[in-house]
Amino acid sequence: MTKLAIDGGNPVRTAMLPYARQSIDDDDRRVVGEVLKSNWLTTGPKVKEFEEAVARYTGAAECVAVNTGTAALHAAVWAAGIGPGDEVIVPAISFVASANCVLYVGATPVFADISPDTLNLDPEDVKRKLTSRTKGILAVDFAGHPCDHDALRAIADEHGLIIIADAAHSLGATYKGRKVGTLQEITALSFHPVKHVTTGEGGMVLTDDADIAKRVRSFRHHGIDVDLHARHKTNSWEYDIVDLGFNYRLPDINCALGVSQLVKSDRWLERRRSIVATYHEALYGLPMLQLPEQRANGFSAWHLYVVRLNLEAITTSRSQVFAALRAENIGVNVHYIPIPWMTHYANLGYKRGQWPVAEGEYERVISLPIYPSMTDSDVSDVVTAVKKVLGAYSR
Ligand SMILES: *Cc1c(COP(=O)(O)O)cnc(C)c1O
Repeated sequence: MTKLAIDGGNPVRTAMLPYARQSIDDDDRRVVGEVLKSNWLTTGPKVKEFEEAVARYTGAAECVAVNTGTAALHAAVWAAGIGPGDEVIVPAISFVASANCVLYVGATPVFADISPDTLNLDPEDVKRKLTSRTKGILAVDFAGHPCDHDALRAIADEHGLIIIADAAHSLGATYKGRKVGTLQEITALSFHPVKHVTTGEGGMVLTDDADIAKRVRSFRHHGIDVDLHARHKTNSWEYDIVDLGFNYRLPDINCALGVSQLVKSDRWLERRRSIVATYHEALYGLPMLQLPEQRANGFSAWHLYVVRLNLEAITTSRSQVFAALRAENIGVNVHYIPIPWMTHYANLGYKRGQWPVAEGEYERVISLPIYPSMTDSDVSDVVTAVKKVLGAYSR
């Protein structure tokens, strides 16, 4: 057995392989350069072009670009009419923005547990968490795998709730033949560099509801009444603030990058799927590992490749396996620490121990690197390092 790098042996790789990374090519650089030579750095034609491109790609009727995925969630929750006194059901495991956006509008996140197979919201636990104050469900497609959207839809319809889909991980995924972006009333996307398509920072709100889209357009622009602005073209200084909005606008520089990135996203999804197939083939059957699975009713966008350690089959902890893989220069990560465990949430009164699946699975998850520009040799380094480390710690 070769000595682990953490014990002083040679690492599998000499340079750290990140867990995720953007793909930027000469086309991307060229279109951004063109915007820099144009008259419009922001609120220009590239914004509409990017919004229309995402609308075509997803099938959503209305798309509104904003400057982060977090802003998209904030705008979505606000445009849904959620506010103080309302409760929104959020999965206990997601990126913190999925719950922070509920706090931003003065509402209360109520955390629900997740299903053990997909690590997505468990509809049965969502039902248990409903109260007379529940106004919405924040449905996250964890790791790119669509939630049980129809089951959530049925609950929402029965109780008059709105569903906001946090599709930061799942652009390009499908559920029962339908594309992410059209599965619920409102969908939020992120274009952070680790996500499927990047604009540097960026986000988008997708909806088929013209009124919600209008509210989001106003919200991203200080709450200015956009109609009034259009009506009074002759007196162009006139504007009115009808709600308290923000400056959440996404510049043309970023939108041009988004247009150019989106063209490549199907090819990138294919690459992600082929990396998943290689991992599956190489790692399937190791008793120390549980590999991620896809339900039969859809296709994941494979934003993350989250394996779970079978802790009873190894002689050490998740943190030691994590450190050993990092020492081999494999940039593993953990997605995510349960949100209610965060200090800010603990200070708000959330107590640990209420989400047995989320809190139990959190202790054994590790994300292996996956991104479209990984080479076959990068993928094979990950497999080698995982087998080396787990082999050394196998019980
Ligand atoms: C990345 C992410 C966000 C926030 O996106 P930003 O663009 O980074 O603000 C929201 N929800 C989830 C699940 C994410 O992974």
